[in-house]
Amino acid sequence: MTTDVRRIALLGATGSIGRQALEVISADPGLSVGALASGSQSLDELAAAHAVEHVQVGGDLTEILEASEPDLVLNAVVGFAGVGATLWALERGVTLALANKESLVAAGDLAVAAWKRGGGLLLPVDSEHSAVFQCLEGRATETVHSLVLTASGGPFRNRSFADLESVTVEEALAHPTWSMGPKITVDSATLANKGLELIEAHYLFGLEYERIEVVVHPSSVVHALVRFRDGAALAHLGYPDMRVPISFALTYPERRATSVPALDFTAGMTLEFEPPDLECFPLLRLAREAGGRGGTYPCAFNAANEVAVAAFLDGRIGFVEIAPLVEDALAQVDGAPARDVTELVQADEEARRLAGRRLAPV
Ligand code: NAD
Ligand code: MG
Repeated sequence: MTTDVRRIALLGATGSIGRQALEVISADPGLSVGALASGSQSLDELAAAHAVEHVQVGGDLTEILEASEPDLVLNAVVGFAGVGATLWALERGVTLALANKESLVAAGDLAVAAWKRGGGLLLPVDSEHSAVFQCLEGRATETVHSLVLTASGGPFRNRSFADLESVTVEEALAHPTWSMGPKITVDSATLANKGLELIEAHYLFGLEYERIEVVVHPSSVVHALVRFRDGAALAHLGYPDMRVPISFALTYPERRATSVPALDFTAGMTLEFEPPDLECFPLLRLAREAGGRGGTYPCAFNAANEVAVAAFLDGRIGFVEIAPLVEDALAQVDGAPARDVTELVQADEEARRLAGRRLAPV
């Protein structure tokens, strides 16, 4: 047990995860903020409130990491923009608390290789992956049968494809169980988020895609399960509140207290599960295919999805046009593995270019 205060570099400090992380850090004397970064929003107030020396708005995230020398990097940036920071931490063996799933999905094998070389901790902040990590802790690999990631199903669960043609941005942003940033909220409505999480789980836990299942669980109380070879399954339960996985990662391995209430069964609780509808939500199928193909297909899936989601949020395409745009881009990329970051960035840019071709000029 260490009594040192853990100095955290918080990247994406103004976002949904960033703000909840600041709440967790403020409530825990063992945690402090050494560095704050955001995309474009001012950090003046946050920096003053948390007495932070290193602050950066925009630019190359590895600069603030180099300058601040954190004990732990919390990557809560959204999208491919977080790749440099993820690789920086993994390569150096600096503990990485990862919310920015897109970076692990896109960098894939390069990230895993950097993680192996660096030899540090990679602690998932994504609730499902934090749950899997906790169910797996201390178990021998050969005893694991498969993983089950739960999905809320988003706001459009049980809608017909015809219904989906007319859904608005506002409806897509109204998530039934989680309050999150706009990009991941749209990804949750299309199930692209669960697709990204499937690929994320593959790289985090080293299991083949056939051994990672996705199941719809509307109340989001069971975050994930691990099935074992003897027929037993361990589940992780809790109210949907990101402060729990954030705190777990930031205080690992101490699992310090949070203000999140214990589960209450006296009010009644039913746990329902159903298979995902891959006809209405093809992005989950496309993610599984991209993951199975490997190389830079996952990177291309992520890049095309980022372009499509941004276009949907801007009102340039409809909800049901997101998946075809991604599918089309995936059909055109070469998907060859990236040997280094330069090639990875090229694969990302090529998929963005191909996805952008289907959009009318602004
Ligand atoms: P958000 O949109 O609320 O916040 C994103 C943050 O990233 C902002 O601070 C923004 O300024 C910053 N950012 C964007 N581009 C940047 C750049 N180029 N350089 C530096 N900073 C940049 O998003 P969010 O909901 O907090 O999600 C953040 C990440 O966490 C995403 O990868 C998301 O998938 C993942 N995640 C979020 C939740 C959730 O509950 N919000 C749950 C699981 C995983
Ligand atoms: Mg998640």
